[in-house]
Parts: sequence; C-alpha cells; structure tokens
Amino acid sequence: MENLQKIDLPIARSLQRELERQRHTLEMIPSENFVSLAVLEALGSVATNKYAEGYPGKRYYGGCEFIDEIETLAIERAKELFGANYINVQPLSGAPANMAAYFGLLEPGDVILGMDLSHGGHLTHGSPVTFMSKIFDFKRYRTTTDGLIDYTGIHDLAVKFKPKMILMGYSAYSREIDFQKIHEIAQEVEAYTMADIAHIAGLIAAGEMNNPCPLFDIVTTTTHKTLRGPRGGMIMCKDQDVAKRINKAVFPGLQGGPHENNIAAKAVAFKEALQPEFKEYIKQVKKNAKVLEQEIKKTDIRICFGTTDNHLLLLDVTPKGISGKQAEQALDKAGITVNKNMIPDDTRSPMDPSGIRIGTPAITTRGMKEDEMKQIAAWIEQALNNYDNDAELEKIRNDVKELTERFPIYPELKY
Ligand SMILES: *Cc1c(COP(=O)(O)O)cnc(C)c1O
Repeated sequence: MENLQKIDLPIARSLQRELERQRHTLEMIPSENFVSLAVLEALGSVATNKYAEGYPGKRYYGGCEFIDEIETLAIERAKELFGANYINVQPLSGAPANMAAYFGLLEPGDVILGMDLSHGGHLTHGSPVTFMSKIFDFKRYRTTTDGLIDYTGIHDLAVKFKPKMILMGYSAYSREIDFQKIHEIAQEVEAYTMADIAHIAGLIAAGEMNNPCPLFDIVTTTTHKTLRGPRGGMIMCKDQDVAKRINKAVFPGLQGGPHENNIAAKAVAFKEALQPEFKEYIKQVKKNAKVLEQEIKKTDIRICFGTTDNHLLLLDVTPKGISGKQAEQALDKAGITVNKNMIPDDTRSPMDPSGIRIGTPAITTRGMKEDEMKQIAAWIEQALNNYDNDAELEKIRNDVKELTERFPIYPELKY
C-alpha cells in the first residue's frame, strides 16, 4: 500500500493501527467477521469508478458491459446460494435494503408486525428513532419465557391489527425460526411475509438454519455478517411481481448509482460461500457457540432465550452485580470485543442495559475451535469477576494477545 503511505500518512497509520487491533483482540461482536483478501481486492478495485444506474442490460449509462457481467454473476451466485428466484444486490447495506422492502410493498400508515427490540429485533424494524417508524405503524410481538418466539401472540396480533406485513428477523436472538408457521398466519390475514436474515444469512446459505426463501415474499440480508462478504445488503424475492416492485424501490426509489466495487466483492464472497469449506466453517461457528454456552452455563451469567441454535449468545450479566456497559468496558480492557445489549423486557436503559451479546463468526474465521472457546469462556468469567481490577484485566489482555498470535489474520497486509 505504498501509494496510501505516500499520499496520506495519517490515514495509513490509522488503518495500520486498526489492523493491529483486529489482529490482537478477540472480535466477538456477532455481526462482525473477517473477509478474505480476494474480497478486499474486489472492494478496492476499479469498479468503484463506474456509474451504472439501472440493472444489468437496462442501464442509464454507457460502458456498462463488464459491470453487467459482474452484477449478473453476483445475482446468479446468490440465487444458487439461497434458492431464491429474484435477487437485487444493489442495496448499500441492511438498513436501506429494509427501507426498500417496506416502500416496495406498502403504503404509508400500513401496519407491520415486528419483533420487540429488547427481545432481539433490529432498529430498522420500527424503532421510534427511525424514519421508518414515522411512516409505517409497527406493532410488536415478543418471545415467551421459554425463549421461543410467541407464535400464538403473533397470530392474535395478526387477527387484531390486520397487518400488511409480518416481519421476522433479529440481531440479538439465538433460536431457530418457524417460517412455515408465520407463512400460515400471513396467509390467513393476507399479509406479506418478510424475513430479515442479516445475522444468520451464512448459516442459512450453509444449510445450517431454516431457509425462508422458498416460502416468504421478501428476504433481506446484509452480506457482511455470517455471510463473510463486504459491507452491503441484498433483497431476495419469490415472485416476479414483488421483485419488480422491489427493483423500482431500490432504484430509482431510494438509491442512485449502485456501488459496483461492492457488488464485485459480494460476487466473490458468494463464490466462497458456495465452496464446501464454507459449510465446514459455519458448522464450526455453531459448535463454537455451543461450547461457549456450555462453559458459561457453569457460571452465574444467565443465558437469555435458554440456549443458542446459531452463532450468538445474549447474556444477562446482572447476576455479577454489573451492567452490560460495565461488562463491555471490562472485556474491552481484557482484549475481548463485545457489545452491550438489551435483554428481553430489560428494566435498564439502552445506553446501560443488562446484557452483552457475544458471537463466534470472526474468531472461527481465524481458525479457533472448541479448546480456544473453553479458554475464552474462562477469560470472560474472570474479566467480569474482576471488572474493576485493571491489573487483572491487563493480565488477561496479554494472554489474549498470545492466543491471537497463534491464529494470525492478514499476515500479508501492511498499510
Ligand atoms: C445488521 C442488521 C441490519 C442492518 O444492517 P446495516 O448494514 O448495519 O444497515 C438490519 N437488520 C438486521 C436484523 C441486522 O442484524
């Protein structure tokens, strides 16, 4: 990266420090991952120079013949990966993908059923701080005390409010989803079905979680979480009429020129996800989450929703006499990166909630397995018990650094 060094040393230096941070800490935020060098190369490619408003074969700009090849490959690979009929790879990220889905199918004021935020739902599912919540009328369903989605509750709400859309999808929920049941409820009340699989897309692509694509009208996802691609979004549709409305909603409804360097990188990531090695990776992601669960169950930390069926765990840390924010800060000092998170029906505030969320996608990409998970669970317990003891946290940080050196990432990179 000698050009970057020459032109902009401050940025090169910050990038190098960020690289070192990624190398020497344990990245346990469940929405993060490490992309391959091939994905990085596609992202930093000349495709960033090209305007290509429209879709392959129907562009508003000349010179799009090779960009069309790239976008078409991305679409075809994603179709194979998810078994979806129609795919739009242009959404810039998960939030714009969801906006396009709402605007493509609904009218202002329409009712959407979505998961309560503290039960694992996402901000873009109608949190009061979003524009979406000003335009659409979101009603909330929850999980029950056994940790499962309250399907009876969804049915009751659906009959009562006659929603135009039932939305499934979460960022802090650790259980499987019964898409068939939701499909039946939606048919009964004539609502669209939408699944936001941002977190679990990689698990679904690998056949390790239920796939909503054959049943649901719309499936949105990010491409950068368990799918291990570049930061971006995507929308999949079952029927052509819905797909046409979604395409119009993405462009020109919501966005301008697509980021074709990003779409090239998506295509590369999809190719990688189609390989047998990716299946093995995802199986290990799940195994690692299970080992963390088993180890954490031996402590006084409480596992929300009872167990994990995927790559993440939502933990109630209040039995330790600390808040989620204190836990996040203590783990940060110990070299373990997590995020504070609300737990179901949290009595504390979003800025200082009761829980933390941890996940295995990134550390599994580094090659860590069951033995490392046991060690990491022990460090988490130790760090939370010593949340106010900087010397103890520093000791763990050094041990973490030693472990990360045995599982190097991007050894060939230098900014
Ligand atoms: C991450 C996430 C999003 C938003 O993705 P961004 O790329 O951050 O905009 C949307 N929905 C769910 C369920 C998510 O987990």
